[in-house]
Order: sequence, then structure tokens, then C-alpha cells
Amino acid sequence: MLQTRRSKLVSSEKSALFENPIEKLFENEHSERTKVKYIERVSLGLDLTLDTWYASPYPQEYEKVEHIYVCHKCLKYMRKHKTLLNHQLDDCSQAGTIIYEQGGLSVHRVLGLESKLYCQNLSLFAKLFIDHKVLYFDIKDYEYFVLSHRKDSMFVGYFSRLRNVNSLNNLSCIVVLPPF
Ligand SMILES: [Zn+2]
Repeated sequence: MLQTRRSKLVSSEKSALFENPIEKLFENEHSERTKVKYIERVSLGLDLTLDTWYASPYPQEYEKVEHIYVCHKCLKYMRKHKTLLNHQLDDCSQAGTIIYEQGGLSVHRVLGLESKLYCQNLSLFAKLFIDHKVLYFDIKDYEYFVLSHRKDSMFVGYFSRLRNVNSLNNLSCIVVLPPF
């Protein structure tokens, strides 16, 4: 069984923070689903392979897979390098609309309500590098700002936030590659 020392430490610190029963329930569910890290490496596109930091609740058939492959544009996940090679021949595209471009980089704004699958894929991928994240599938109230290379739409990073303008939470999650 593989489990990082880092995730063990942070999980034990976090459990002490959640006094509210509902938060505790979410925290327990989170701990249960991500207590063992099976996926050790992730390839993003054909040229970048990263060691993962934490477990992510990919579907059950991915649970015992050590190395997964993710499309650098649409973030679709796959178990085999060959599948990624074939997928790259498809004309998949990055979701959302461009809101900023400079030099070789662009920022897309993606709405969870409109691009559900992309945002779910993004959440699952991001969880590989975030210890504490419980939101993967119910993403309709969130918007995502995705940084990528203009030339090949290579994913570089993102942050997400609740679309509710009255919310005091203006940052939900953030990941920038490569992780350090
Ligand atoms: Zn793709």
C-alpha cells in the first residue's frame, strides 16, 4: 500500500479542524476516498510526465493503475499511452472562451454549467496535486480560469471560484504546473 507521508500528516492535522458535523462527514468521506495513492505518475500530453502528490477519485477501473495519461487540451484521462496517441489524432479542443492573451499564453474562462465534462476532468487532474479537495462532479456553480500555451493549448494551470457574486470565497482551487 502506498501512502505519502505528506498526505498522512496533513490529513491528521485537518481532521482536528472540522468540528461541524457536516464538515466532518465530508472530511471523513474525503479521507476514505483518497487515503491510498495508486496513481504515481501522470502524463499530460505526449511530452510531460509528472509524479503525482495525492490520490484522486478517478473511476474505479483506474484505482490500480500506476501511470495514467491525460490529454493536454481536453484533459480526458486514459489508461494507455497508445490511447493517448490515438486521441491526439482527434481534433479535440480546450473548453471555454478566451478572455486574455499575451505572448505565448492565453487564459480561458470555463463555466462548470456549460463544460461539465471538462471541469470534472480538470478537478480530477488537479486533485493529483491538491491534498484537500472534495468537489469533483457537482461543478455547475463554479467558473474556471485556465492558463495554457496558445500554440498547442497545453494546460499550464488554473484557478476556480464560485460564480455567486455575493460569496466571500473568491478562490476555490489553484494549481500551476510544474508542481514544486
Ligand atoms: Zn483531448
